[in-house]
Amino acid sequence: MVFSKRKMKQFLAFGVTIVLVICLYKSWGSPTNGGPPYGEGFDDEALNDGEMAGRKVFERVLKQTQHDPSKTASSSLVGGNSYNGPSNNVGIPPPDDYDPAHDFRMNELHEAKRQILELQRKIQELEGRIPRKYPDVTFLNYKNRKRILITGGAGFVGSHLVDYLMMQGHEVIVADNFFTGRKRNVEHWLGHENFELIHHDIVNPLFIEVDEIYHLASPASPPHYMYNPVKTIKTNTLGTINVLGLAKRVGAKVLIASTSEVYGDPDVHPQPETYWGHVNPIGPRACYDEGKRVSETLSYAYAKQEKVNVRVARIFNTYGPRMHMNDGRVVSNFIIQALQNQSITIYGSGKQTRSFQYVSDLVDGLVALMANNYTQPVNLGNPVERTIQDFAEIIRDLVGGKSQIIELPAVEDDPQRRKPDISRAKKYINWEPRVPLQEGLMKTVDYFRKELARSNHSQRNIFVPETTEFRNLV
Ligand code: NAD
Ligand code: UDP
Ligand code: UDP
Repeated sequence: MVFSKRKMKQFLAFGVTIVLVICLYKSWGSPTNGGPPYGEGFDDEALNDGEMAGRKVFERVLKQTQHDPSKTASSSLVGGNSYNGPSNNVGIPPPDDYDPAHDFRMNELHEAKRQILELQRKIQELEGRIPRKYPDVTFLNYKNRKRILITGGAGFVGSHLVDYLMMQGHEVIVADNFFTGRKRNVEHWLGHENFELIHHDIVNPLFIEVDEIYHLASPASPPHYMYNPVKTIKTNTLGTINVLGLAKRVGAKVLIASTSEVYGDPDVHPQPETYWGHVNPIGPRACYDEGKRVSETLSYAYAKQEKVNVRVARIFNTYGPRMHMNDGRVVSNFIIQALQNQSITIYGSGKQTRSFQYVSDLVDGLVALMANNYTQPVNLGNPVERTIQDFAEIIRDLVGGKSQIIELPAVEDDPQRRKPDISRAKKYINWEPRVPLQEGLMKTVDYFRKELARSNHSQRNIFVPETTEFRNLV
């Protein structure tokens, strides 16, 4: 038997009402002690509509059985001292005004409360059986529907790509080891017939059948990729070999998520794809920078030798909802600091620059690149460049807090300038970013505000883009 949520709420309200009406009937017309209407187990905030209806009846019961001030008997179960009846108090005489009917009524109330809790438990159990509701995905027939693997699909960028491809009606398989990703980023698709989540470390081989692969698995923020540099290198070398081996075996098209870090601390500005970069091969960022450079090298080696159909996206700084709170990247750090009125920490002089793109623009670019025949690396980034100092002020003003902006020591090998030359993306895949910084930041601030408001796991902050937003994307 399948209940809708609404029906179940009505069922709960009805059940609670019946229990309380019985109670009301039994205690009708008999004055008793008052006191707080709810004992433990009645948590106002946890009450839903049905429970509220039940609670109103409960309040009525208690009003009608309220203490007559002319009497002085102490309350038993709802506050005050209690006389528990002759059998419990051998040798102690009952007070003059002891009313056995009062204890009886209180027992009845407790029994009612127990039954309500039991009903709540049953409702919760039934709710668990209700088929989940998903965003309305496009229907694609067998011929047009692709099976798409996204490695790292539970991460920040990957989860937005999942949303896009799911809405288009494709079958999406996510393989993720949850190092920096989270199940809740894709929670809204769990159980959908087109979606599958595999807990898998891409350093190990993966044998599945797919048409396309987006290879995003790799930590992306400096503190995360520096945390275990050897693992970062393995993920970007062995992991990429496995992905390319899989693509070779099944004849899948594969897109590799590379990075602007392949340009290192650039001495050409802005950076076109033809620039070979300026990377310190033994510095703290090398595990990531060189890992991604090898990843690109592997892609073109597999393309040449094994005829694997590859795409390489060089992604510049990207931000948006679902970034990790402790990610350590500049956008999440500054927003969280501003929201908490803490000092906004600039590493170094703040004169270094970055160019920030909103995540939906990046997703558009990744999909456009995959669909295109162009096989050389393509920069995907927003060319609007800002100093980190400017960026700190923009965020502080947007959040409206009282944060001070302070300077901390510069980090080693921090690239001083970064701005993508996106002429290739414009020319070959007809792509350029559309979301202005203020608009993207507002959505991101909103997301982090909700993240900070969470105090336990049951408080959800699931970012699901509006259907209209999906419509614009599809
Ligand atoms: P993220 O850390 O949020 O996501 C990375 C995902 O990969 C996580 O879900 C993580 O658990 C998973 N992962 C890490 N190692 C893995 C492994 N060995 N096996 C399986 N899964 C693994 O980062 P993101 O910002 O979403 O970045 C996604 C991709 O885009 C990365 O490859 C990153 O290098 C690239 N990129 C991102 C940016 C950016 O600004 N966000 C910039 C340049 C490049
Ligand atoms: N691989 C994989 N899934 C596949 C096919 C290959 O994970 O479906 C792995 C395989 O284990 C190997 C790597 O990809 O380690 C490279 O495969 P390739 O065929 O290029 O190399 P070989 O197996 O010949 O060493
Ligand atoms: N940064 C900063 N304060 C922070 C975090 C980062 O000033 O709290 C600076 C960092 O030194 C770098 C820029 O912001 O110059 C971007 O850093 P991020 O880690 O976001 O990405 P990167 O582009 O360096 O990979």
